[in-house]
Amino acid sequence: MTKIAIVGGGIAGLSAAYYARKKFPEAEITLLESSDRWGGKITTDRLAFDDGQFVIEGGPDTFLATKPWGVALCKELGLSDRLHGTNPHKKNTYVLNRNRLLPLPDGLAMMIPTNIEAILKSRLVSWFSKARMGLDFLLPAKAVNGDESLGAFVSRRLGREAYENLIEPLMSGIYAGDGDALSLASTFPYLRDLELKYGSLARGALTMRRQSNGKSVQGSRSAFLTPTTGLAEIVEKLVEYLAANDVTLRLNTRAISLKHLTPDRWNLELDTGKLFTANRIVIAAPAFAAAQMLASLDPSLASDLQSIPYTSTATVSLAYRQHDLPRDLDGYGYVIPRREGRRALACTWTSTKFPHRAPEGYALLRVFVGRAGQDIPWHEDDLLALAKEELNLTLGITADPLLSRVFLWDKAMPQYNLGHPETLKRIETALDKHAGLALAGNGYRGIGIPDCIHSGELAVDKLLENRRVESSKTSTHTFL
Ligand SMILES: Cc1cc2nc3c(=O)[nH]c(=O)nc-3n(C[C@H](O)[C@H](O)[C@H](O)COP(=O)(O)OP(=O)(O)OC[C@H]3O[C@@H](n4cnc5c(N)ncnc54)[C@H](O)[C@@H]3O)c2cc1C
Repeated sequence: MTKIAIVGGGIAGLSAAYYARKKFPEAEITLLESSDRWGGKITTDRLAFDDGQFVIEGGPDTFLATKPWGVALCKELGLSDRLHGTNPHKKNTYVLNRNRLLPLPDGLAMMIPTNIEAILKSRLVSWFSKARMGLDFLLPAKAVNGDESLGAFVSRRLGREAYENLIEPLMSGIYAGDGDALSLASTFPYLRDLELKYGSLARGALTMRRQSNGKSVQGSRSAFLTPTTGLAEIVEKLVEYLAANDVTLRLNTRAISLKHLTPDRWNLELDTGKLFTANRIVIAAPAFAAAQMLASLDPSLASDLQSIPYTSTATVSLAYRQHDLPRDLDGYGYVIPRREGRRALACTWTSTKFPHRAPEGYALLRVFVGRAGQDIPWHEDDLLALAKEELNLTLGITADPLLSRVFLWDKAMPQYNLGHPETLKRIETALDKHAGLALAGNGYRGIGIPDCIHSGELAVDKLLENRRVESSKTSTHTFL
């Protein structure tokens, strides 16, 4: 019987195990996770409070509905009815600009400004910058193909000021990255496609929006979705499914190194000193952890994996009585451009974005800390102090929070910097030499939850392909 081992119990590894169960019905499947819980970056605290509850997300708080893999998996797991969109009644997002909160202009499509009237009214950019943004309709597409940084590309199309004040905090915020280092091809490849196809980002984004008729996949009217009591519901359902379908689930089990025994057998060395033998392996741990496992098997592959940088981040959630807050939280929160020099990256007004996440009469806010090139404090007390200072400076909050939760994420956000596409090509070529081995997770082709789910399924598909190639090579041996 084929034995499949999946290393890493974050959403990518759990999804890989799920799809492995579906696509290899006869196989013996084991999921190995080094920590004492499932979910990796997904972790939800549910705190009973005053006849209600706070739902506090430590890592991701929502997923994108426009990428189909998250919605599809939730549907298969029976979670469709539990998915909530963001609050449609208070949709403002603000940008910190010289210590004031200014609203993002209406009409952003694919993060590109498309509403000329709204841009003309916005105080986020100067008149000079508004005129410069208009050149997007006239400037020809850059003729030479090739990657460039996100910052260079958006500045070339819309001007530097629009990039720094408007686009950078939205786009770089997703990666906690430095837009002048992030690879356009690896982060927002569709922007270059819009430039080439429509000769203008705004024209292209508008056309795409009209074509999609404002709808996300599966008819969802909200671009972002989350289950009622947090993203941990997806993890819980996956674990329930795997346990019920004979997948062996092992927590507190760290894989240390991987060796090839025969073309069809791998040995995983575990931190217990024991060896685990399998015919197929998916490594769904961060790229630097995969590098350690593969260091003796393939030093050059390991070196490419190790070269993918990761940024550390933290989230601090704080709860208040509504009437202790000096202003109405009338939107999803605010983002902070790098040029503002603040230590926080953004603040989500959680109880407005998802009203069911706080009891009536209470507010829940979440400060996001950490971006590429910036160290973050490593003590929870310091992070809490930083978050309170941020809320005081920007929102004038002086009250003590009723409760707070700090989550520290060491080396959490992979940076798809310039050169990432070439690194991925080398990794793929190297993997071709190792039939039966596949990688999944946020280090490679997408950091969002739907991408990670998809990466788990693709890794299983690669194992299937290997099986087909192997069985066509020899008529006497099959792997199932
Ligand atoms: C603060 C924060 C906010 C975010 N917000 C959003 C959001 O709102 N929406 C969104 O879509 N995405 C968001 N993301 C990104 C998204 O959460 C992650 O990219 C995704 O969850 C990563 O999943 P993964 O399975 O690839 O990796 P992880 O979740 O990192 O899982 C990898 C697992 O491998 C285990 N592991 C590591 N080494 C070993 C080993 N040697 N042996 C065994 N196990 C090992 C780890 O313990 C871990 O459990 C956010 C991320 C962070 C940190």
